[in-house]
This record gives sequence, C-alpha cells and structure tokens, in this order.
Amino acid sequence: RNEHDALWHNSLTPRTVRDGGFDATAVVHGKGCRLQDAAGNWYLDARAAMWNTTLGYSCDRIVDAVTEQLRRLPVAQIIRYDEPAEVSLRYARRLVAELPDPLNHVRFGSTGSQMTSAAVLMSRFVRKVRGETQRVKVLAFTNGYHGTGGLAGALTGERQMHALQAPLAPEVHHVRPWDLEALERAVERRGPENITAVIVEPIMGTDVVPAPEGALARIRELCDRHGIHLIADEVTTGFGRTGAMSVMAAQGVLPDMLVLGKGITSGYFPLAALACSDAVFDEAVSRPEYTFPHGCTADGHPAAMVAGLAVLEELADGVLLERVRTTGAEIRRRLRAAAAEIPLIHDVRGEGLMIGVELRRESGRPGEREMARIRDACKAAGLLLTSTNNTLVLMPPLVLAEEEAIELVERLTSALRTVAG
Ligand code: PMP
Repeated sequence: RNEHDALWHNSLTPRTVRDGGFDATAVVHGKGCRLQDAAGNWYLDARAAMWNTTLGYSCDRIVDAVTEQLRRLPVAQIIRYDEPAEVSLRYARRLVAELPDPLNHVRFGSTGSQMTSAAVLMSRFVRKVRGETQRVKVLAFTNGYHGTGGLAGALTGERQMHALQAPLAPEVHHVRPWDLEALERAVERRGPENITAVIVEPIMGTDVVPAPEGALARIRELCDRHGIHLIADEVTTGFGRTGAMSVMAAQGVLPDMLVLGKGITSGYFPLAALACSDAVFDEAVSRPEYTFPHGCTADGHPAAMVAGLAVLEELADGVLLERVRTTGAEIRRRLRAAAAEIPLIHDVRGEGLMIGVELRRESGRPGEREMARIRDACKAAGLLLTSTNNTLVLMPPLVLAEEEAIELVERLTSALRTVAG
C-alpha cells in the first residue's frame, strides 16, 4: 500500500501519486489568484479551485464575516423548522433583490448537485399539487453537467457519469447540446404532457459551449407552449463569472427555477441556492397542506450566509463585473492572435472569465492522455487549469488583474508551444 492511498480522489492517479508527484503539488497556501504547493512553487490558478473562488484566496471581507459569525451562531437552523437563523432571512432578502422578477424566493442547500435535484423535485411538487402525476420526464443536454449522485448525476449527460446513473433514472432524457430541433422532437416523442421540466446551462461548462443566439428564448417559448418548467443551472455561469450576475437575466430569458452555487460564497463555504418564480411559489411552496420533502443538515449555514452577503457587497458597485468583461475579452483577443502561430489552438470562445480553448491537431483531436500532458506542461509553466474533452477551460478568480490576465496568456501559450513543437 502507498501512504497516499488514504486519500481517494480521481485526479490522484497512480502516475501522480506513485511518482511522488502528489507531495510536490499538494497545495498549502493561497493568495489572490495564486496557489503555493508544499515545495514552495507558486502557480497562477486559472481554475479558481473548482471554478468557485471568484474573489481569490485573500478576501478579508469574507474571512472576517465568517469568523465573526462562527463565534456568534455556528450551526445551521434549517428553514423547515420554525427558527431560521436571522442571518438566513437577511441574506435571502438580499439575494432575491439581486434576481430579476419574478424569481423572488430562494431556498438554500449545500451543493449545486443538491439544488439541481431540488429544482426537479420542486417541479414535481407543482405537478403533485395540480394532480398532473404523469408529468415525470426531464429533458437535458448531453454534455451538460448538473452535479453528481442520484438525480443530479442522472441529469448530467457526461458519458462516464451517465453510464453509471442512467439505469437509475429512466425518466431523464438527453439531446445533443443546443440542437433545438432534436429538443422539439424529444418533446413530441416523449409526449409534452409527460414532461415536467427542461434543464439548461446557458453556457455549458463542459467544453465551454454557449447557447447560440436566440436559443434560450426559443427553449423558453417551447416550455411555455407545453406547460413545461424551465430550470436554469447557473452554478458555474452565475455570480459574475461572465461579467453578469446571471446569464439568463442578462439575456432577458427568465426560467421558472434558477440554481446558483460555486461563486455564491466565492468558495469560502459550501452553499447553493434554488430560486423559484412567484408562480411556482404561490402554487406549491406556500401551500400549508404540503411540505416540500427536501433539506440537508448544513443547508443555510450561517457562515455561508455571511460569506454570501460579503460576496454580494463586493460585487455591488459593478466595478468588478465590468473588469471581468474587459479582462476576459482581452484574454480571448490575445489567444486568438496567438492561434496564428500555434495551430494547436483551434477555437477560443466564452464570455467574461469563462473561456474555452479548443485544441486540435491536423491528425485530429488530442485524446485524454495528450490533454493530461498539456495540463502538465501548463503546470510546469506555473499555470493551473482544467480541461474537458479537447478543450482547456480557463476560469480564473474574477479578481484577476490586467497584468495577471496577460501573464496567464503568456504562461499558456508558452506551454502550448512546448507541446506543439
Ligand atoms: N451544475 C453545474 C453547471 C456545475 O458546474 C456544477 C459543479 N461543477 C454543479 C451543478 C454541481 O455543483 P456541486 O459540485 O456544488 O454539487
């Protein structure tokens, strides 16, 4: 047995662990947009931990608020009981004020996975109240990511996850990303009266695939035509990632339910939220004869509430959101220019600081092994990033300074030159 086997994690493959790579890259410290490993090396973190440390590793406002709150009231008071923490009420009101009408109601969970599942349950809850018991099907996109475990895992169209989950959730059906004809055909084939909800990410995190222009409005219209709920999963795209609080709201297409997570506390505390419209709330949630069967022990933890409040305060004046739009555009511009001399860069896309760099060789798409080598080359160049399929995914903290954006591009292009040559 290897001593590192104590920690079971996907990315700790035998290669990294047995070569002693794990010790060298175990992260011990973070500051701003940078992480330091146990060997003292610094990296520019272009993945913001797991796409969530939006305000970086040294946000005093959050740390101070959480520390004070932990001394005052350290445990969650689940909303289902009659004694919600005062700070939960305060944060709910503040959060709802940021969301467009009619998304005027939130409940809190601990993870995005939990809340995408809760959104589907909420949709089913409305059906139960209406007596539409046959409406059980959910449509989602292949390649979409909505979380792991149970229902969330079944909503996720990612191949490996889906292979494990699909047999457990036969009512979830997937169509190819943004193929609206296929979506309409799926609605007809499954029977509109049998479908409770459609779930979409306005920009898919996997391979960073934005909805084509007008697609979200067409999906909204399709759902309206058939009385289907539209659930927007903005766990990744929300909270400033694209330079807006919500991509759906920015495009003026409002879902019946909106799932938020990740950047909601800038990663300082586990928190996710499910917002629902007045219609959903009035029809189901507010009915005293039903209790929505959902909620976990730590939901709405007071420390997460104050972290969430601090994030909203940091974003409130819009200065950071504006900078996200300009630094993101500058990174894309520089990478597109670099593509002229690095043909491995096939496409650069995204919005704000959610950027996909699709790689291709003349011989075809780089496979898993080659992508791992490319990530290693980036790491050797002092840059941490994620990749999905043959796309490098750049999601640095939103507080990335202009010089750091340039540095990011330089580190990335220098790494790509070494593997391309
Ligand atoms: N939805 C989307 C779009 C996500 O990117 C993620 C996380 N990567 C989730 C849901 C699940 O969130 P969590 O990991 O907090 O369960």
